[in-house]
Amino acid sequence: MIEGRKILIIEDETSIAELEKDYLELSGFQVSIEERGDTGLARALKEDFDIILLDLMLPDLDGFEVCKRLRQKKDIPILMISAKKDDIDKIRGLGFGADDYVTKPFSPSELVARVKAHLAFYDRLLNSNVRKNEIIEIRGLRIDKTARRVFLNEEEKIFTTKEFDLLTYLASNPNVVFTKEELFSAIWGMESLGDIATVTVHIKKIREKIEHNTAKPQYIETIWGVGYRFKV
Ligand code: CA
Repeated sequence: MIEGRKILIIEDETSIAELEKDYLELSGFQVSIEERGDTGLARALKEDFDIILLDLMLPDLDGFEVCKRLRQKKDIPILMISAKKDDIDKIRGLGFGADDYVTKPFSPSELVARVKAHLAFYDRLLNSNVRKNEIIEIRGLRIDKTARRVFLNEEEKIFTTKEFDLLTYLASNPNVVFTKEELFSAIWGMESLGDIATVTVHIKKIREKIEHNTAKPQYIETIWGVGYRFKV
């Protein structure tokens, strides 16, 4: 997971920048260096880096400003590096949005460990935000609510919008009996033109698509005199 991950070092002291670069490259990272605040910020905004190592005292634009401006545009880990412990306390107190602070002189292996830890943390954060498709699956019928697709025994069935909404509404409330009026208002909305006969027509169409035998439906059951329910 480290191979090819890109790091930008914004640091005006060449010896420190090179030291950081060497250690990070040994760990498999792709490392770039910028020696000024303004060029560093421009590059960080333009290219896709996985993490930024940002020195505090920089020519043209200091680390505070770079961090602040970068934070407004990009959600990537920023590790701030400073020669002065006091500065670290100060920036932490000001809440510039840096993810971590390292004081010089630092042990390169500790720096690498911190970089790895932050990348792993951001990866977890990203993964937890990836939306998983919401799927209802009952006896060979699979409704993908996110993709709005329906499959019966792995074969896709094509549904109109309202047919899909109606099937999904019933299947999302299994074993609940709904009257036609309730279904009509839930799917079409009270303000819609039309009447509850629409519900009957749509149920019939849905059954033709998913039921093996429409006379003996195994998914949408008719409750005589009341309405319908989705059987599980
Ligand atoms: Ca510096």
